[in-house]
Amino acid sequence: MKSSQSSRKKVAVVGAGVSGLAAAYKLKSHGFDVTVLEADERVGGKLRSVSYKGLIWDEGANTMTESEPEVQCLLDDLGLREKQQFPISQNKRYIVRNGVPVLVPTNPIALIKSNFLSAKSKFQIILEPFLWKKYDSSKVSDDGTDESVGGFFQRHFGQEVVDYLIDPIVAGTSAGDPDSLSMSHSFPELWNIEKRFGSIFAGLVLSKLSTKKESGGVRNGTTGKSKPRRGSFSFQNGMQTLTDTLSKELGEGVLKLRSEVLSLSYNAGKYASQNWSLIYSKDKNSKDLIADAVIMTAPVCSVREMKFMKGGIPFSLNFLPEVAYMPLSVMITTFRKESVKRPLEGFGVLVPSSEQQNGLRTLGTLFSSMMFPNRASNDEYLYTTFIGGSRNRELAKSSTDELKQIVTTDLRQLLGVEGEPTFINHFYWSKAFPLYGRNYDSVVKAIETMEKNLPGFFYAGNHRDGLSVGKSIASGCKAADLVISYLESSTDQSCAE
Ligand code: FAD
Repeated sequence: MKSSQSSRKKVAVVGAGVSGLAAAYKLKSHGFDVTVLEADERVGGKLRSVSYKGLIWDEGANTMTESEPEVQCLLDDLGLREKQQFPISQNKRYIVRNGVPVLVPTNPIALIKSNFLSAKSKFQIILEPFLWKKYDSSKVSDDGTDESVGGFFQRHFGQEVVDYLIDPIVAGTSAGDPDSLSMSHSFPELWNIEKRFGSIFAGLVLSKLSTKKESGGVRNGTTGKSKPRRGSFSFQNGMQTLTDTLSKELGEGVLKLRSEVLSLSYNAGKYASQNWSLIYSKDKNSKDLIADAVIMTAPVCSVREMKFMKGGIPFSLNFLPEVAYMPLSVMITTFRKESVKRPLEGFGVLVPSSEQQNGLRTLGTLFSSMMFPNRASNDEYLYTTFIGGSRNRELAKSSTDELKQIVTTDLRQLLGVEGEPTFINHFYWSKAFPLYGRNYDSVVKAIETMEKNLPGFFYAGNHRDGLSVGKSIASGCKAADLVISYLESSTDQSCAE
C-alpha cells in the first residue's frame, strides 16, 4: 500500500542484476524513493542477450521457470506474458551415455521402463523408501562442512544415478560437481523432505498430496493473475527482455550506471532516517548518496572489497568468508542445416564428467534455435555450448580458436556436424556462479551477521537464496518486503512519540 510517509523514505539498491531490479521495482511500486547503483555500463548482470545479423542468443541465463509466486506476480505486473517464449519440445532433454545422446525419461515411471539406467539402479530407485541409508552424522568433519550433493543422492539412489543424472544436471545448472556442492544449499527442498519423511520418493509423493489437500485445488500461495505454465521459458528477444523491461519501468532517474559502490557508512540516528551514506565512483568521479536503507545484491567477492563504517569507525568484514566461483565460457555456433547430419529436437544435451573418457570436453549444449526458431534463419541451427566449470576450470579460459575446435569436435560426435561453424561468438565469465560449497553455511551466517549489526542493511541475490533467476527474483522481493517493514515500523515509532 502506498503511503505519503513511505514516499519520503530513500532506499539504495546496489547492483542492477535481476534481484536488485526486482527489489527496486517492488519498492518503487510501494512509493519509496529508490536509487539503483550499478558498476557496469548496462543493466541485467547475468542476464545478457544479444541480437546480431538476424541471430539472437543469450550469453548468461538462457531460460527460467516461474515456480516462485514472486515471479508470477512480476510477469503479470510488467505485462510480460505476451513476450514469454516457451521452448518447442522442452521435455526432450538428452544426456550422453557411451558417447551418444540418450533421451532422458521425463518421470520416474518412464525412467523405470527405459534402459537409461541399469536394472540394479532401477531396483534401488523402486525400493528407495525401504533401502535409503541415514546420513552418518559422525562423518561430519570438524570444520563443520555439510553433506555433499553426491553423498546425499548416493545414499538414496546409488552411484549410477549420481554419475549419469546428478553430475550432468549440477554441471548444467551451476557449473559445479556433486562432490563439492553442499546438499542443504543446492537442493534445500529435497534436504528438508529427507528431514521430514526420510525417503525422498515417499516424501515427494506425500508432500504433493498434502499441498493439494491444503490448497483444495487452488494454487498454493499464488497471487499471480494468470495460471503459470509449467516448465522453462525465455522471452521473445532473450532473457534480457526481463531486466530491460524492469529498468524501463524504473525510469532513468532511478538507475545510475557506471556507478561502482566503494564504501558504505552507517550512523545511527534516532529514527531509521538518512542513516546510510554510500560513496560510489561515477565515471571516475566520487559521488555520495544518502539513504534510509540499503539492499545489497552485489556478489560477496565485491562486498568484501567495499569499505564499511559504523558510527564513524571501520566495520571490519573479516568474518565474511571468501567464496569460490566457477569460471565458464559460453560459445555460440551456427551451422547450415545440411551440415548437421543427426540434429536432435528438444532442449539440449548434457555431458556427464565420466563421458570425458569418450573424448567429450564440453559440459553441455542447448539446441537454442530448435527451442526458439526465431533465434536463427530458416536454413541454420544455432547452438549454445558451455565449457569449464569446476570440471575443467582451465579449459574455460581457453582462446576462442581453441574453444571453437573443442565445441566443433564435440558437436561432430553428438550431432554429426560437418565442417566449420558459419558463425561463432565467445563470452567468458570468470565468476559465472558462486560455488555453494560444503562450507557455504559460513557465508550465509556471515551475511546474517552483517544484517544484524548494520540496521537497515539487507542482502539479496544469488549468493543467498538460490542460483536460479526465479530464486534471485524471489530473494530481491523478500529483501524489499523486509525494507518496507523496517522503514514502516520506524515511521510508526517516530509518529507515536
Ligand atoms: P547478478 O546478475 O550477478 O547482479 C549483480 C550486479 O551487481 C551486477 O550487475 C554487477 O555488475 C553489480 N555489482 C557488482 N559489484 C558492484 C558494486 N561495487 N557497485 C555496484 N554494482 C555492483 N539461471 C537460471 O535460472 N536459468 C539459466 O538458464 C541460467 N543460466 C545461466 C548461465 C550462465 C552462463 C550464468 C552466468 C548464469 C546462469 N543462471 C541461470 C544463473 C542466473 O542468471 C543468476 O544466478 C542470476 O541472474 C543472478 O542475479 P543477481 O541479481 O543475484 O546477480
